Amino acid sequence: MHPPLGGLDWQWAHSRVRDLKEWTMTLQLQSLRTTAKRIARARRIPHHEALNLIAQHLDQPHWYALTAAWDKGWRPDPTDEDFLSTVAKTINDHVMSIPTLGIGQGVQENGSIDGHAYTLEIDFEVHMAQIGWWGILLEHAPSEQPQIELYNLSPANPMLDPVFRSRALTICHSAAERLRARIAVDWPRRSTKPDADGRAQHPLTKGVSNKWYCLHCDGASTGAQMASNMWHCPRCNATPLDIFAAPFWKAADPIG
Ligand SMILES: [Zn+2]
Repeated sequence: MHPPLGGLDWQWAHSRVRDLKEWTMTLQLQSLRTTAKRIARARRIPHHEALNLIAQHLDQPHWYALTAAWDKGWRPDPTDEDFLSTVAKTINDHVMSIPTLGIGQGVQENGSIDGHAYTLEIDFEVHMAQIGWWGILLEHAPSEQPQIELYNLSPANPMLDPVFRSRALTICHSAAERLRARIAVDWPRRSTKPDADGRAQHPLTKGVSNKWYCLHCDGASTGAQMASNMWHCPRCNATPLDIFAAPFWKAADPIG
């Protein structure tokens, strides 16, 4: 039901609009903090560094200065209605262009090295190829080694040239770094940045610990090691699904 019209209600409506404006502004400051979290995850930098990046983007020397100015009524350029999305783009566009991950849902790019045209596909892994000649598969855990395939053994195959191979591998590693940054955006903060006690958060099970065990190879790793290797076992490259905070499989056998 609408409130009855009258002087009092006009005042109510007026204050409501004012509240709404305040609320919108508060929301924008909160949105900046949320945006900073995403930038911090993508770049794997501390949250306060990301806040400072945002402040500098909005012509404030640092985040503290921005909030102080905000309290005094300063606002980002009011003519720039898209300032939030502009700030969000300080997360590299080329990282965010990789969609929510899934096989076959990635991005495909084209390029060439010394006149050899290649395609570069990034989804949950990186696949670079020159049709009929060679391919390179690189999974996203930093401990993974690139797998090079040759599709023909002609001496003209450019992959046989160490300089060409090195340039192609550089492109693959750079793509894998973009992919890791994109994955980190969707993970909890503690999954890529352990706390002061070395505790890191498993990105899927959300458990927190400073020691982790691999069901696949039985190896133990620190939280920092897991965080820096994208939660793949640094010893055997097992996926995050095989990583647990406690080696429950050891306790399961009362005789052994
Ligand atoms: Zn392992």
